[in-house]
Amino acid sequence: MERNRKILFLRIIFAALLVFVAMLAFNFFPFLVKFKMLIYIVPYLVVGYDVILRTCKNIVKLKFLDENALMFIATVGAFFLKEYLEAVFVFLLYQVGELFQNFAIASSENNIKDIMAIRPNYANLKQKGSLNRVNPEVVNVGDVIVIKPGEKIPLDGVILSGGSYIDMSAMTGESNHLNVGPGDRVLSGSLNVGGVLEVCVEKKYKDSAVSKVLSLMENINNKKSKTENLIRKFAKIYTPCVVAIGVLIFVVPVMFFNGVWEVWLEKFLIFLVISCPCALVISVPVSFFLAISKAAKNGILVKGGIFLEQLFNVNTVIFDKTGTLTTGDFFVSKISNENFSKEEILEVVALVEVNLNHPIAKSIKKAYNKELDIGRVKNIEDIFGKGVKAFVDGREVFVGNLKLMNSIGIYSCKDFELGTTVHVAINGKYAGYIALQDKIKENVKSVIKKLKQNGIEKTVMLTGDRKAVGEHVASKINLDCAFCELLPHNKVEKLEYFLCENSSNGKKVAFVGDGINDAAVLKRADVGLAMGAIGSDAAMQACDIVLMDDDIKKVLIAILISKKVVRTVKQNIFFSLSFKAVIFLLGVFGLTNVWLAIFSDVGVSILAILNAFIAFRGRFYLK
Ligand code: ADP
Ligand code: MG
Repeated sequence: MERNRKILFLRIIFAALLVFVAMLAFNFFPFLVKFKMLIYIVPYLVVGYDVILRTCKNIVKLKFLDENALMFIATVGAFFLKEYLEAVFVFLLYQVGELFQNFAIASSENNIKDIMAIRPNYANLKQKGSLNRVNPEVVNVGDVIVIKPGEKIPLDGVILSGGSYIDMSAMTGESNHLNVGPGDRVLSGSLNVGGVLEVCVEKKYKDSAVSKVLSLMENINNKKSKTENLIRKFAKIYTPCVVAIGVLIFVVPVMFFNGVWEVWLEKFLIFLVISCPCALVISVPVSFFLAISKAAKNGILVKGGIFLEQLFNVNTVIFDKTGTLTTGDFFVSKISNENFSKEEILEVVALVEVNLNHPIAKSIKKAYNKELDIGRVKNIEDIFGKGVKAFVDGREVFVGNLKLMNSIGIYSCKDFELGTTVHVAINGKYAGYIALQDKIKENVKSVIKKLKQNGIEKTVMLTGDRKAVGEHVASKINLDCAFCELLPHNKVEKLEYFLCENSSNGKKVAFVGDGINDAAVLKRADVGLAMGAIGSDAAMQACDIVLMDDDIKKVLIAILISKKVVRTVKQNIFFSLSFKAVIFLLGVFGLTNVWLAIFSDVGVSILAILNAFIAFRGRFYLK
């Protein structure tokens, strides 16, 4: 890419120099004018040989009428008119436009490359007391690796020994240092800033966070935006039509009305050059590419331009509660026990939750904060939206909400008045509960307000949690409505209600969740945004936009980026079409020439790209 760009640059400079020298030469040695065509054909080929080659290739493949062909026909026409300099300039300026586009793409590729730099090159594998540098792909689950200060963490795992700071900015776009120590999980792709860490590997490289993110980045361009596809289709029909009309413009007056062929050939050329859809064809994908890379820089991975377009049309944003609006980092506010000690209750619940990733499970394990013997737990069953069932030391244990208790015939229990209550039943008998409390993320309220200011008409919460808790959260942050005590399939039904409501007005519905118990909703929404999803495969697959950490502000940034890109594309389309229309009208009245047409075409392309550049320059700060 970079090499091609350099070569293109040199070709443009070289051709321009040749033209300059030729012009001087004609001044000083007038006899050379006789060889004008031969002399100008050199810069013409230098700068345009690839366009000619592409046209020829397309002719051989019988798909000859694209913008290359337009350019080529225009230059050949100019040669017929003995306007050699014009012919050279059509190519020269066209290539300047190409170079520009190249730069735009390269700069956004650099953004994406920055993120790709998370790819780890090696892992220090501990084998029989010695440390070997190996390819991360050969490391197995259970192996022990050592990460020195300044090194990238190559694989996901649990810290065995050592303490350090972890910098996740390459993945999340946010530079905060996380303090970690023994027992903490580390994700591949982050940077070890502080001390030496010994980590027990939990996932093969291909399943690790870093390789998931990388494969996502590699597949970004597969889903073209609708505008992009539309323009492409449009150009396919449009170009042959233009050539056909152009030929008529030339042939009809000359054949039937005694027109002077030079005059009408010139009009034909002007028409061709004006009609070249370059600016449109170039600027739309460049704008989307710039937007996607800007998003990536902010820790937002958009799976394709089409989702930015959808996001632009969103008027309803639906949130999951736990882990999305609230931190999901519960603390135990009360343990109520019947036939067991409080310590026993906590231990049993922690054991049942041992394998789960639900925020409740994580928080209870954190509260218990002791080694858990997995051998004591059998047949763990995640009962979505209700809780968990498992056998601990041979006893049947149910852990979850009132719905779960009711489903096994226990009706005597009541929820603690504050927060989320996790009830426990052991061998069919009620054993007590653990009351948990969660905090609303601190910036949620202001983000919701800004969403409203930016055209989001409805903000909604769906939660599996009890009504008291859900409605409390919703009113604290001024949501428009909240639906509580939903099972995962109820969440899909509610979402469908909103999709239905919008079916007539073309507006879209976005869902923001963490992928735990809501992957189905993420998938069903027009745009699914998964937050803090680097750890969770299901969420990353089900969603359209991955928010690399769990900062809710990223939802707003994604929406702002989508507004910006769609607006920029609209401006560019409007601008280039109206500009061309003006030049075309001038052409009809004989007030323009090929030169003006060439300049306007290239000028419009460059301005369009510049416009996109300006829209996405700098970091995306929030007002
Ligand atoms: P949310 O919609 O708030 O993310 P979920 O659908 O994940 O909630 O869960 C709904 C309810 O189910 C929780 O409020 C909790 O009462 C219960 N629950 C779910 N998973 C668990 C678990 N692992 N342990 C205990 N209770 C759980
Ligand atoms: Mg959830």
